Amino acid sequence: MSGDGASTTSEEQVRAIAADRAAFRSFLRDHSLPVTAQRLAIADVVLGTERHVSAEDVAEMLRRSGASAGTATIYRTLEVLVRSGLVVERDFGEGFKRYEASRGVPHHEHLLCSVCGRVTEFRDERLERMTTLLAEAHDFSRQRHRLVIYGLCGDCRRGAAQRPPLLPT
Ligand SMILES: [Zn+2]
Ligand SMILES: [Zn+2]
Repeated sequence: MSGDGASTTSEEQVRAIAADRAAFRSFLRDHSLPVTAQRLAIADVVLGTERHVSAEDVAEMLRRSGASAGTATIYRTLEVLVRSGLVVERDFGEGFKRYEASRGVPHHEHLLCSVCGRVTEFRDERLERMTTLLAEAHDFSRQRHRLVIYGLCGDCRRGAAQRPPLLPT
């Protein structure tokens, strides 16, 4: 579990990614869905990154790796990946969906930078306990929750500090 900035790939991660790819092939075969090079390339992109990618990001990453796929194919494949349970869909209210490899990722929350779009993950036991307490205080039995904190990441904030304010005060 890490933010978008992380690019370290441990041996364990490499094995997990390989297992995910194999699982996706099996899922396609088990459901009599065509195992095409395009579908596999799309799966490779999403399963091989720690980022929370949009369909547009996937298209861009495919282009950079020398592959390509139409928008419809990308969306259909993302849908299949979500159905397979290998990928989780996230809606941060940005007008588009993001996707992240699930890989048994434990429950976590997100911080979203409104300037550069970077997504950072975190988990905090105090917050988990607090959601139970809040639910109980409202005679509610807690099942699940999600939290997105919107704001500016450190890089954007430091960059922004050097620029003049957008509006005169
Ligand atoms: Zn930022
Ligand atoms: Zn996440």
